[in-house]
Amino acid sequence: MVTAVINGKAVLEHGVASVSLILDGGKIRAILAPDCDVSALYPGCGIIDAGGQYVVPGGVDGHVHFGGFGSVPIADDFYTGSKAALAGGTTTVVDFCEPGEGEDPLECIRVRKDFGRDSAVDYALHYTFTEDYRRELPRIPDILDQGITAFKAYTYYPRTSLLPGDFRNIMEVIHDKGTLLVHAEEKSIIDCMKERFHPESSDMTALSLTRPNIAEKIAVESVLAIARETGTRLCIAHASSRETAAIRRRERMAGNESFILESCPHYMQFTRKSMEGPRGALYTMNPPLRAREDADALMEAVLREDISILSTDHCPYSKQYKLGTNYETVPCGVDGVQTRMQYYFSEAVLKRGLSMEAFVRMTSSNAAKFYGLYPQKGVIAVGSDADLAFFDPALSWTYTMEDVAGATDYSIFEGFPLRGRCTRTIKGGEVVMENGVVTAKKGSGTFLFTK
Ligand SMILES: [Zn+2]
Repeated sequence: MVTAVINGKAVLEHGVASVSLILDGGKIRAILAPDCDVSALYPGCGIIDAGGQYVVPGGVDGHVHFGGFGSVPIADDFYTGSKAALAGGTTTVVDFCEPGEGEDPLECIRVRKDFGRDSAVDYALHYTFTEDYRRELPRIPDILDQGITAFKAYTYYPRTSLLPGDFRNIMEVIHDKGTLLVHAEEKSIIDCMKERFHPESSDMTALSLTRPNIAEKIAVESVLAIARETGTRLCIAHASSRETAAIRRRERMAGNESFILESCPHYMQFTRKSMEGPRGALYTMNPPLRAREDADALMEAVLREDISILSTDHCPYSKQYKLGTNYETVPCGVDGVQTRMQYYFSEAVLKRGLSMEAFVRMTSSNAAKFYGLYPQKGVIAVGSDADLAFFDPALSWTYTMEDVAGATDYSIFEGFPLRGRCTRTIKGGEVVMENGVVTAKKGSGTFLFTK
């Protein structure tokens, strides 16, 4: 069935325009001038009146963890995580597969795709290298065959800590085949810092203090040097410090566009102050929350578009697994996929004057381009998927637990006042969320090949 979205301010690649969008067969079929009589051109078509709201491409969140992982269960699986995503205007996510001890890479991908069968958003996957990467590297052709060209590696994490030499080995193989997302924190700095804290400290600020800015800075400079040497397209995951923002600025001024940053709302909004006291465990993630100067520098970097991809690292755990732990045992990760676009629409666009075009680049187009999903995703253009989100700048509201569309039992954004609201999400030409009510069917999402 043909649907026409009329009376919207569509954020197109080259500006905001009052147009009518014709959706058909899951795609955007035509973009028409507002005075075109769509009922005459497409007799019997369904009409959605956007009421003058902004219409943007469905969001692309380049970094989520929907279910699985380690011994502590992540609160959201692919279906509940999808519902949260759709409630906030995001229609595409990039999740991860990471082989277990001795597990064959293809088996791990098969299991993850099986998990993804419940997804109601379209999804792609990163392949994460482990410390056993020498066994995984020869399987790269098979991994590529599975539609995965997005790779991820850590400088420091259980089972996945890699040294500069390892990064060089990996980048020499993948540099002409895909992209590399790196979790960058220098292990030796953190190990030394941990000696200064009681290992069972329940003071969660220890998590932040043992992982100082300098740990991120050293790791970023190190992988950047190797990426430059090998010609690898590098994205630093969840940039959390003013130093990392400054490195990107320096590289951007020098014209290096194959090095980009991803960051997440929590690093711009919260500081390690939130980690004080008995509820501090609810604000734990890696890298950790830092100082106000870092949060402000990162928001400044968003306004200058020094951060290319605004993701979430959505990885929520129920309170029961967070509270009563210590800084070494707390499962790290917070929610974000639902509030991501709402947060930047409120805090960057409406409060700080970011343009809608820039908002769209950072919340969808850039991630779609980096992961080779563009122009199927990340743009309102003829032939692109009919994935859209409506944003009403006139609505102000407060995010509460009643708004949570996923399975988390708390949100770091609970009680947060937001300006502007995502009122409708369309995926594949179908309305899947209206005024906070998600109607998408389990399993309606599809796996996307990255390129
Ligand atoms: Zn992550």
